[in-house]
Amino acid sequence: MAARLAVSRWRAAPAAPGRGPLLSCRRWSGAKADTVYDVVVSGGGLVGAAMACALGYDIHFCDKKILLLEAGPKKVWEKLPETYSNRVSSISPGSATLLSSFGAWDPICNMRYRAFRRMQVWDACSEALIMFDKDNLDDMGYIVENDVIMCALTKQLEAVSDRVTVLYRSKALRYTWPYPFTMADSSPWVHITLGDGSTLQTKLLIGADGYNSGVRQAAGIQNVSWNYDQSAVVATLHLSEATENNVAWQRFLPSGPIALLPWSDANHTDFIDSASTMLQYAVGFLKPTKVSARQMPPSVAGVDAKSRVLFPLGLGHAAEYVRPRLALIGDAAHRVHPLAGQGVNMGFGDVSSLVHHLSAAAFNGKDLGSMSHLAGYETDRQRHNTALLAATDLLKRLYSTSATPLVLLRTWGLQATNAVSPLKEQIMAFASK
Ligand SMILES: Cc1cc2nc3c(=O)[nH]c(=O)nc-3n(C[C@H](O)[C@H](O)[C@H](O)COP(=O)(O)OP(=O)(O)OC[C@H]3O[C@@H](n4cnc5c(N)ncnc54)[C@H](O)[C@@H]3O)c2cc1C
Repeated sequence: MAARLAVSRWRAAPAAPGRGPLLSCRRWSGAKADTVYDVVVSGGGLVGAAMACALGYDIHFCDKKILLLEAGPKKVWEKLPETYSNRVSSISPGSATLLSSFGAWDPICNMRYRAFRRMQVWDACSEALIMFDKDNLDDMGYIVENDVIMCALTKQLEAVSDRVTVLYRSKALRYTWPYPFTMADSSPWVHITLGDGSTLQTKLLIGADGYNSGVRQAAGIQNVSWNYDQSAVVATLHLSEATENNVAWQRFLPSGPIALLPWSDANHTDFIDSASTMLQYAVGFLKPTKVSARQMPPSVAGVDAKSRVLFPLGLGHAAEYVRPRLALIGDAAHRVHPLAGQGVNMGFGDVSSLVHHLSAAAFNGKDLGSMSHLAGYETDRQRHNTALLAATDLLKRLYSTSATPLVLLRTWGLQATNAVSPLKEQIMAFASK
């Protein structure tokens, strides 16, 4: 069995109108704004839940009140489902290190994951090819179901429930800022109104509410964005033959990249495929001196029809990641094409960086919502994320054409990258963070 993700060209529906909370800078008039949290994370997807975990396990936050708000239900299993979920992510070694730092990586490994050691990327319009082959048996990365990561994060959050309160099925409807119209008698904190009418306050609001971020909209932060008029199709595939199950395959077709990712253990023939994983591995693991022969991916015996799902694709980047008492992380700050398998890894990188800066601020007794350390987070992450967003967008455009000059250009580019080992090593190091 295997799963694959293809990207097919189609006309995207018009962008949905903003569904985020209302912008309000008026003086707070809530009736019961009683609870003041040190940090509220709005949005408990993979990135927001990881943020709440990282803070909950940080020694300098042991006396802090942290709240995670999630509009959806709690996701935990009594028993691991036998069927694979079709939402998987390629997790970089750097992200695995973050998850390990608060104990979430071992539960993931005890549930289900698949390590990668090799990867082949090639162009459908030419003979250009890159083979990433790790001689030292280090893992290039890991394919993990999103539900497995979420389950591990939920369990870790339960273990620090004395420090981190989690409210499921709790949608933040409105945020009210203490600026720019602060009145003498008004509260200096951010006020949040939930769907049930209850209210709370926080010294620092972290927006982790996805690419349509209501926090970002409510703060009036500009977001550069466009749709690719493409969708990603993800499905579980059944392979026709047994195979050594540690190779990721990605082929760039003019209609979009197609990738086949290993999924089940080596005793089976199960694979999962995702167009996003490839570049991540491609960027990190090639041995430049070695010229590898082209290999053919395993043939597909069938598609699990029920597993097919479609995701619209686009790019987005917030002009600012921080404001006083506000920080954006994950897709709320940046949305990237999945061909590079970097979206959630960028989000986990945000978590590492923001926790680093906040932990130092807490240790030094500083105001968590102050720009003095939030600006450090923004500088660190914009430097990294802007480069990745630009590179991914360029690759997407370069490989969306069969025009001869561009095919020549990318063929030389792929071959040159394959041949220049320091370049490959640099790219690998960057992508594995
Ligand atoms: C097909 C596909 C394949 C991908 N493959 C990879 C991959 O291999 N590797 C990789 O690194 N990335 C991959 N990505 C990208 C990755 O899935 C995303 O970057 C990541 O899931 C974003 O996580 P997030 O927590 O920032 O946002 P989201 O997952 O969007 O989570 C946001 C959360 O906020 C909650 N929320 C929203 N509004 C509110 C509100 N008002 N109040 C309370 N809660 C709210 C939502 O319920 C949701 O749970 C892929 C993406 C796609 C589409």
